[in-house]
Amino acid sequence: MNKVVIVTGASRGIGKEIAVLLAKNGDKIVVNYANSEKEAKNTVEQIKKEGGAAIAIQADVSNKKQVTSLFDKAMEHYGQVDVLINNAGIMINKPLAENTEADFIKQFDINVKGTFNTLQEAFFKLSDNGIIINLSSSTVKLMLPSYALYSASKAAVEQMTRVFSKEIGRGISVNAIAPGPTNTELFLNGKSEEFIKTLIRQNAFDRLAEPSDIAKVVLFLASDQSKWISGQVIGVNGAMV
Ligand code: NDP
Repeated sequence: MNKVVIVTGASRGIGKEIAVLLAKNGDKIVVNYANSEKEAKNTVEQIKKEGGAAIAIQADVSNKKQVTSLFDKAMEHYGQVDVLINNAGIMINKPLAENTEADFIKQFDINVKGTFNTLQEAFFKLSDNGIIINLSSSTVKLMLPSYALYSASKAAVEQMTRVFSKEIGRGISVNAIAPGPTNTELFLNGKSEEFIKTLIRQNAFDRLAEPSDIAKVVLFLASDQSKWISGQVIGVNGAMV
């Protein structure tokens, strides 16, 4: 409560839900986005309508200069940054043999270099006793065909989480959550009904997660209640794996 929170990729999907929920709980939000300006503004409007505080800041997380500017603008506006939620991400689904070099670069630039860039900024600029939450994915454990690049990128995020939690110091906790299939564009795009149903049957609740299922866990991890949890990857997947 009452923390300044950067949520990367908060124009849509899980990031938007996190931004709205944390704002409801009294946090001040920086809604980061790369391309979806209209959607990012809608997130800010929704938060303000509900009595919260938010600003939208454009920055491609894979671009170091833009990430530096994201942190600087956030600090200019709110005076500090207490919580970083590395939610921005993309998924390129193809059998490994069909992935192009461009696919590899794009997948790793956004999911891995994007997280690396914001962690470097956080090292110098996040408040003492701050909190960092990275978004991994349950696909790291599921090892599904066509997920080689995506799950490799998230495995890298998990390892940076574990190592960085021991490096950053200043009372800052660093964790990752690994959601299972969640009802957003990233998950639904290009998937058949049949494949979606097959995945749904693999969790213990027989339904797709909603972004709110994930945001509620982030709310706990972004609060001081969870301060003694650090360096962990927490599965948020209804017993899927
Ligand atoms: P969506 O595709 O719905 O939303 C992705 C968000 O990330 C958008 O706000 C988008 O902004 C932003 N984004 C993409 N690229 C960049 C970039 N280069 N710089 C800044 N922002 C960017 O995805 P989800 O909400 O489903 O996913 C959120 C996170 O959760 C991701 O890291 C994903 O890997 C992870 N996850 C998702 C699961 C799922 O089933 N949905 C399961 C497990 C993990 P813009 O529109 O402006 O480009």
